[in-house]
Amino acid sequence: SRPHSSTLTTEGLGIRFGAFQAVGDVSLTLEPGARQALIGPNGAGKTTLINLLTGVYRPTSGRIYLDGQDITELRCDQRARLGLVRTFQINTLFPSLTPLESVVLAICEREGLGACWWKPVKRLTHVHDEAHAILRRLRLDALAEVRVDTLAYGKQRLLEIALAMAARPRILLLDEPAAGVPQGESSELFEVVAELPAEIGVLFIEHDMNLVFRFAQRISVLVAGQMLMEGTAAEVGADARVREVYLGK
Ligand code: ADP
Repeated sequence: SRPHSSTLTTEGLGIRFGAFQAVGDVSLTLEPGARQALIGPNGAGKTTLINLLTGVYRPTSGRIYLDGQDITELRCDQRARLGLVRTFQINTLFPSLTPLESVVLAICEREGLGACWWKPVKRLTHVHDEAHAILRRLRLDALAEVRVDTLAYGKQRLLEIALAMAARPRILLLDEPAAGVPQGESSELFEVVAELPAEIGVLFIEHDMNLVFRFAQRISVLVAGQMLMEGTAAEVGADARVREVYLGK
């Protein structure tokens, strides 16, 4: 496994779509091993910022640094190899595979082994051991060998995180990991996220403020494409500007 955790920072990061400045001048810091929430009203630019961080979009201004290395010009796959990983979306899961096969496939992809998952198990013991360990961590071990399309929605969302874990992230970016997951299950999903290895930093978008304040030590508040503030959960919760944005007073 990777020897250390990583710091992600941006300086003056922004993107315009035509004349529209979706994200402007954002300076963000994700400390090693942080559990940090990215919050803000609809349309604030949260998803766009995640897309900038992972390399889906090229910024029109500013820089992105991973452990001080400028990664602004790197492609998504190059960033992923450095440990900056986002979750797969559910519609990229293979419905007819099992969670175990899916994670094995993702590990093989990381290792550049091609379509190795069908090879005799005894030749891939270490891959299977790692896959089982990841599924245990995501509390999916009891479901390791059922078809993915028979999994409840919340379990499929956990599998997305399992697949991201197969890439050996130092930083995980989660865009509304609990979206669509029933109330009771969303806090379990965040418990699992909170218990990921301490060296993995997690930046997550979440709308439910109860979950945000329960699971984030630090919070970045994006409003109209600008970083309104970044601080501890206590600092953000007590900030008059944040209260104004969220409570209208
Ligand atoms: P959030 O995730 O905070 O709800 P988004 O990042 O999805 O906000 O969107 C921020 C703004 O940028 C929205 O007004 C959205 O319409 C706009 N936007 C996002 N992506 C594009 C795009 N590819 N082209 C044009 N406008 C976009």
